[in-house]
Amino acid sequence: MKELLELYNTMGISSGVYAYGEKTLENLKERFAEIDKIAEHNQAKVIAAMQKNRVSAACFAATTGYGYDDVGRDNLEKVYADVFHTEAALVRPQITCGTHALTVALSANLLPGDELLSPVGLPYDTLQEVIGIRESPCSLKEYGVSYRQVDLLEDGTFDYDNIKKAINDKTKLVTIQRSKGYATRPSFSVKQIGELIAYVKAIKPDIICMVDNCYGEFVEAIEPSDVGADMVVGSLIKNPGGGLAPIGGYICGTQSCVERCAYRLSAPGLGQEVGANLGLMPALYQGFFMAPTVVAGAEKGAIFAANLYEPLGFKCVPNATESRHDIIQAVELGSEEGMIAFCKGIQAAAPVDSFATPLPWDMPGYNDKVIMAAGAFVQGSSIELSADGPIRPPYAVYFQGGLTWCHAKLGILMSLQKMVDAGLVTL
Ligand SMILES: *Cc1c(COP(=O)(O)O)cnc(C)c1O
Repeated sequence: MKELLELYNTMGISSGVYAYGEKTLENLKERFAEIDKIAEHNQAKVIAAMQKNRVSAACFAATTGYGYDDVGRDNLEKVYADVFHTEAALVRPQITCGTHALTVALSANLLPGDELLSPVGLPYDTLQEVIGIRESPCSLKEYGVSYRQVDLLEDGTFDYDNIKKAINDKTKLVTIQRSKGYATRPSFSVKQIGELIAYVKAIKPDIICMVDNCYGEFVEAIEPSDVGADMVVGSLIKNPGGGLAPIGGYICGTQSCVERCAYRLSAPGLGQEVGANLGLMPALYQGFFMAPTVVAGAEKGAIFAANLYEPLGFKCVPNATESRHDIIQAVELGSEEGMIAFCKGIQAAAPVDSFATPLPWDMPGYNDKVIMAAGAFVQGSSIELSADGPIRPPYAVYFQGGLTWCHAKLGILMSLQKMVDAGLVTL
């Protein structure tokens, strides 16, 4: 493919970086085939749910105002519920992001005097203010919801003894974050999450188990709701939006939990009955349809990145060979310069804003400065090729997304190129 190499050369990728990438790919054929199998399974699951619920052009009509009797919106929620095998679902453009969806799920199901338990260590940065681990007006803490945390053991597994000790009369809800987020612990498989839920419910059967499913959707053939989670929660500008949803979040779960979420999101008494779709239904349906293959492409990108960087001496989480439970790849670059070079490469490979230069910046909800590279059609979308990370040791960038595998590949090659250009790597 001489023409392709020439094209890449004109885009700034050297023949050496390209050749190193091709060599890396030779060993990944089998793993990519496994990913395609899971995508095929999940694609069938989504199509079956759309067929069962008789999705038709009528579902794509825009509604405005109160949005009473919004057929498209109500039907989309049935499709989500069927794919996640839950009784109910709340899927709304009025849910502004993943943090909002999680906030709705928590504050709808926790009352003053209740206790929230995280048995998987510190939750994702933005959740810390929601819970009140870091002081914030309107935190759950301010409303009288207490919080307990049990850290993971050294090896990244659950500390069952201390989880048992932490569960008490007040414990109402357990929050389990599937993906590592900005930590360097492993992400959990759905099976592991199922074991944790079974353990917790054996101690106290009426505990509500919520899974922060961000970045995990469609990576496996089953979801946490298949192994006992009462609620699974995520963002539509990540996996399940398939890159097409311009906004939104979802909560799938039991009828009683989801109903409370709807009352919290809109108003007691109104619940799921209101919320106009504002013309977003085509994007939300089509995005969900695309999501299984988009996630597969992103996962291939993550695996490619680990296999490219690990032999060069950079620690990768997950490592080059281990199994995957989300689309995030952490690469520990060891320095701020490394993070900047990596992010510059991701940015330079983007279809949008490729001319911009990412720099470390203060971000609302985050404690340290954060660098973000994203040239996305949907602003801030991290199912699109993006890299980000807080500027703190071990200087890890969290790399994720790619609407197509080919774009993910280009972005990763470009990141390596920028590392080479900055003298941080020699091939
Ligand atoms: C992204 C993410 C969130 C928050 O989602 P936003 O859409 O950024 O608000 C929460 N938890 C995890 C694990 C995430 O990856």
